[in-house]
Amino acid sequence: MTRKIKTTLLLATCYLLLDSCSNPEPLYQEQILALGALVDISIWGAEPDVARRASTAIAEDFNRIHTTWHAWEASPLTRINETIKSGAAANVDAEMIALIAEAKELSAKSGGLFNPAVGKLIASWGFHSDEPHGPPPDAKTIETLVAAHPSMDALQIEGHTLKSNNPAVQLDFGAIGQGYAVDVAIAHLRKLGIQNAIVNASGDIRVIGKHGGRPWRIGIRDPRGSGIIASVEMQGDESIVTSGTYERFYDYQGKRYHHIIDPRSGYPARGVTSVTVVHSDATTADAASTALLAAGLKGWQKTARDMGVKQVMMIDEQGIVHMDPALTKRIHFEVTPPPKVEIVSAL
Ligand code: ADP
Ligand code: MG
Repeated sequence: MTRKIKTTLLLATCYLLLDSCSNPEPLYQEQILALGALVDISIWGAEPDVARRASTAIAEDFNRIHTTWHAWEASPLTRINETIKSGAAANVDAEMIALIAEAKELSAKSGGLFNPAVGKLIASWGFHSDEPHGPPPDAKTIETLVAAHPSMDALQIEGHTLKSNNPAVQLDFGAIGQGYAVDVAIAHLRKLGIQNAIVNASGDIRVIGKHGGRPWRIGIRDPRGSGIIASVEMQGDESIVTSGTYERFYDYQGKRYHHIIDPRSGYPARGVTSVTVVHSDATTADAASTALLAAGLKGWQKTARDMGVKQVMMIDEQGIVHMDPALTKRIHFEVTPPPKVEIVSAL
């Protein structure tokens, strides 16, 4: 789940907290480096000491998750992958088993479009590296990897052990790790008595409470630039997660290759540049945003339905916004002229 540290930080805090930058308020803000990315924490209405301690606790959560789930540097996950490849049972701790079980369920609901078992494909495309790079794999390699049908269904969980009946399975939780970490962080903040906060890990965001008397407002990155395209007012405890082809990519011989793979073809997904999902928890929203990006413009509604997500915004390669009416009511475009919008019901 490691990503390169972005020098082009997604959303400056002033963009994110659209209302707050001009107002001195009891707002604590900190940026930490974790999971190989920058995490923005905003806490409203807590004593500075409490807020500082909470930020430190969150940094520890993110770093623990980062080292546990690292997909290519030696980690508990790479040890699990080694073991299950040989058909043996891997001992897995309770936290990891719980997330693997959740990912299995989400993958099944997505019809395999969110498929964390495709680690070999992701590696072959050059994304198991701090600096993604080509050359891209040849057609034969991709065909062989797809034909081996790596799938979460192959995993059997018994107590705290994990087995796979398919040696082609290699787990990579890059699509869900940040959303999961954001959920863990918010649960931790709550435990510490904090009621109003935002945790933002590179566009994977969960909010609780409010910003004083007002709802938190969140900006959604414009896939075509470094600014924001739209903002949404958040209602209490909610997550807003964006997957984008701009997050990790490389150019090779004049062609661009990005990091979200359509497991059906084995190639980077085509047609859509970003997907935003608003949902209660960030883990589900993260899995869904990846699945919907892989689904593409045809058929994403069924995937959304099956995964139980309703509030979806997709931006296609032409810059056209495809949106469910559930989100249309809440979204405010921040660009002039506003983009062309096609309203498509996911229901
Ligand atoms: P973003 O980086 O924009 O937040 P995602 O949440 O979609 O994007 O995560 C992308 C990462 O997920 C990739 O770097 C890779 O590790 C992994 N991945 C790519 N395609 C898939 C897929 N179809 N299913 C599950 N994981 C994937
Ligand atoms: Mg995702």
